Amino acid sequence: MSGDRPRPSPHILMKTIIQFFILAFFLIPILCFGASSLPKESLVPGGIAILKIPGKVKSVPTGYFQQHRLMILNIKNHWEAIVGIPLAAKAGIHYISITEGKKTFQLAFKIQSKKYPAEYITLKHKKYVMPKKEFLEALKKQQKIIQHCFMHWRDEKIINMHFKMPVDGRISSRFGFQRYYNGEKRSQHRGIDIAASHGVYVRAPGNGIVINTGKYYFTGKTVFIDHGQNLITVYAHLHKILVHKNQVIKRGQIIGTIGRTGRATGPHLHWGVSLNNTRVDPMLFL
Ligand SMILES: [Zn+2]
Repeated sequence: MSGDRPRPSPHILMKTIIQFFILAFFLIPILCFGASSLPKESLVPGGIAILKIPGKVKSVPTGYFQQHRLMILNIKNHWEAIVGIPLAAKAGIHYISITEGKKTFQLAFKIQSKKYPAEYITLKHKKYVMPKKEFLEALKKQQKIIQHCFMHWRDEKIINMHFKMPVDGRISSRFGFQRYYNGEKRSQHRGIDIAASHGVYVRAPGNGIVINTGKYYFTGKTVFIDHGQNLITVYAHLHKILVHKNQVIKRGQIIGTIGRTGRATGPHLHWGVSLNNTRVDPMLFL
């Protein structure tokens, strides 16, 4: 037999073409404007819990964990609460509170313990281990500004949390390390350090709005980006800041250059990520 295949009737052909266009009509906006995407879950201090809110998608629920408002996103037609877990959280069962319309209920999740390694850093400038008395007042003011940035809430429906590394380089210090400066115990590392050459561009890992830029005692020249629903990222020790407050920025856009301003032993980027005013491991977003 020769390869005489039956030809599709014009009717079926038309149907297929219409189906294709209907599919494209729905798919193209998703591909162009994106849908929300989630970070990786990690149920440890400094990690993230992702909790499915039962029930149908009706009114937008609000959620709280330890007095901090939670990010809640519509993922494939149901609500998910994305919860930053504090480094100080104790292992065991914890609850978030959800309010939907008139009803309020709790959702439980379990945090496992995690021991982070110690890291010993030697600083040449003692002022970064113990700031002089005359700086303490100014430092307190700076701390307030920084705290305020991490509390910033902005409504946003679609948030893509599949971030792009803000700079190419070697990760020189990881999140959560217990730090000792010249032998003195300080707080755990609340971000990751990426070593790169002086002057290399630092790029926004996702879409957002610049909520603050400034020069601070410990973090040096710093940029804060708000990605919506209290997801805030911070870029510290920059040499140059190339964005300004209230600037709308796109994923991949240049925001500054690598430097060593503030408490830094060499040129690197300190990259921090905060959710519900809780510093979490940036690696969960990559
Ligand atoms: Zn750092």
